[in-house]
Amino acid sequence: MENKKELRTWLNKFELDHPLVIAGPCSAETEKQVLEIANQLKNTDATVLRAGIWKPRTRPGNFEGVGALGLKWLQKAKEETGMLITTEVANANHVELALKHDVDILWIGARTTVSPFIVQEIADALQGTDKPVLIKNPVNPDLSLWLGAVERFYTAGINNLGVIHRGFSAYEKTRYRNNPEWQLPIDLQNRFPDLPLILDPSHIAGRRDIIFDLCQTALDLNYDGLMVETHHDPDNAWSDASQQITPAALVKIMNDLKIRKETSAGAEYNNKINTLRTQIDVIDHQLIEVLGKRMKVSDGIGALKKSNNVAVLQSKRWNEILGKMILEGEENKLSEEFILRMFKAIHQESINHQEKVFKQ
Ligand code: PEP
Ligand code: MN
Repeated sequence: MENKKELRTWLNKFELDHPLVIAGPCSAETEKQVLEIANQLKNTDATVLRAGIWKPRTRPGNFEGVGALGLKWLQKAKEETGMLITTEVANANHVELALKHDVDILWIGARTTVSPFIVQEIADALQGTDKPVLIKNPVNPDLSLWLGAVERFYTAGINNLGVIHRGFSAYEKTRYRNNPEWQLPIDLQNRFPDLPLILDPSHIAGRRDIIFDLCQTALDLNYDGLMVETHHDPDNAWSDASQQITPAALVKIMNDLKIRKETSAGAEYNNKINTLRTQIDVIDHQLIEVLGKRMKVSDGIGALKKSNNVAVLQSKRWNEILGKMILEGEENKLSEEFILRMFKAIHQESINHQEKVFKQ
């Protein structure tokens, strides 16, 4: 697949002067709940109502969705509010039912994107439709797997496509439910600048308080839209309660967000520079995290040296590291002088850390 302007035709048709907003509950629970939320979202900047009908759960025993019955509630919400509707499809049967109930946009869940067999089954079932399909990133940080899923749809003749960035699972617990790993969608965007890119801050955050910041970072990176889990009574939601926000909270977020997409001539420069600067910020943040991790390992080495009565400074080992890093630096177009200066600083910090451990 190559980048093509046509990839975003479906999005351009909405003629929005702001990013596309998809909002609605994690799961459709009851008809009343779906209609209540849809009515609260009506007349806001949200264009599309989302609700999960079939819920893929990592572990059994959680609420697994109301099933096809919920499609009728979505249809009713569409009639009442004029919003478009979207739901997740995870097999050919879901596709058939969703199409029968006039679902406007389909999305592919993170646990589906990981499986080329299922992706192919869904792509085959969708042949001939012009419904936009939004593909969530796979649960693991693998750009090829994500792109592979997009290509399977494209090859099946589905050209109305988009991707949803919902973060990546990690074994280590972090402040996120799913790590954003911004570098991945940034790489994808560089390769396919016309493939609409939508942020799902809810599944990245897993909690309410950082949803705004995630949305702002996405807009600064020139994302095309947001998909935010929204519930009239979030605390009592049947799934993902801790990350859902009320429609009123979503409206406040939409008002507070700074949208950097300007269209005048000089603004193009501003857009580009802002996107590049946000990319740099993301990488700088990763650098600090990696350095922090390195120092933690170094503390461990310090403790081991202390208990074995070995001196902090081990010149031979240090010279080996430097030699290797100068070579790797060369491969990455980094000058020897820079590598030397940087690693001297890192090494000094490492020694300071270990000396601290020795004094404890
Ligand atoms: C969802 O959107 O409710 C969902 C299940 O998302 P994901 O596939 O990203 O986990
Ligand atoms: Mn959810």
